Amino acid sequence: MNHILHCAIAPHLKTALDLHQRTSGLSLSEILEQALSQYLEVGEETLFQTSTINALVEGVYRGDLTVAELKEHGDFGLGTFNDLDGEMVVLDGQVYQLRSDGTAHVVEDGIKTPFATVTVWNQDIFAKSQDPLTYDQLQNHLSRLLPSENMFYAIRIEGTFKQIKTRTVSRQTEPTRLIDAAAQATIYTFNNIGGTLVGFWVPLYMQTVNVPGFHLHFLSKDLSVGGHLLDCLTDDITIALDETPFTQIALPDTSAFRSVDLTKDTRHELEAAEQDR
Ligand SMILES: [Zn+2]
Repeated sequence: MNHILHCAIAPHLKTALDLHQRTSGLSLSEILEQALSQYLEVGEETLFQTSTINALVEGVYRGDLTVAELKEHGDFGLGTFNDLDGEMVVLDGQVYQLRSDGTAHVVEDGIKTPFATVTVWNQDIFAKSQDPLTYDQLQNHLSRLLPSENMFYAIRIEGTFKQIKTRTVSRQTEPTRLIDAAAQATIYTFNNIGGTLVGFWVPLYMQTVNVPGFHLHFLSKDLSVGGHLLDCLTDDITIALDETPFTQIALPDTSAFRSVDLTKDTRHELEAAEQDR
């Protein structure tokens, strides 16, 4: 729960604050939170993840981390749920399950995740675009905004989209590899829709640990539909990036994770599972 502050500030600070609000696109609350967290050194600059992406590729679909525990590490991110039961979006502290029918639902705290990545959202870079960008073009655009490809970034893109193409994995009842589960996933196309793309840039050197490159999930503005982004055509969007210089990985303490062979090169399988075909 957020608190309301009433306080007096000097005129020159108010002028500077107004100017920053106009140029950054941030709300007054966001600016004050960033400023206070820096001053008081309680800011979170950590990307937290549970398990590794190559374990998910190998079909380790059950983790031991609950949604409640995940929320302690961040209010923004993505992932999936045990048994690969849909795609996850974490936005403004709320965890949403994007089910195989394309619909979005708030999930209960006791649900577990086999793979998820979150951070405490703290915007560092802000840009706007009104160009119609496909996902390929959007990725090129984002690449130019990244200060370094060797750092981790949380990415929040909000606005309107002429088209969004998503896929949503469905609950697996038999052991499968991620590539096979993804091949059966349902694909949806949404036209002229408002919403948020939530995701990350992960450096290529981390390719066995997390999804390398850009990885985005979509949640509609009315919180009703979404999925793992395959393609898009943007309309009027704002792009915000949060650089997170620290990473923390919680490995599942499960027999499946302890015994799975994670020495194989699964790059091509992961690429096929994550991208549009
Ligand atoms: Zn995804």
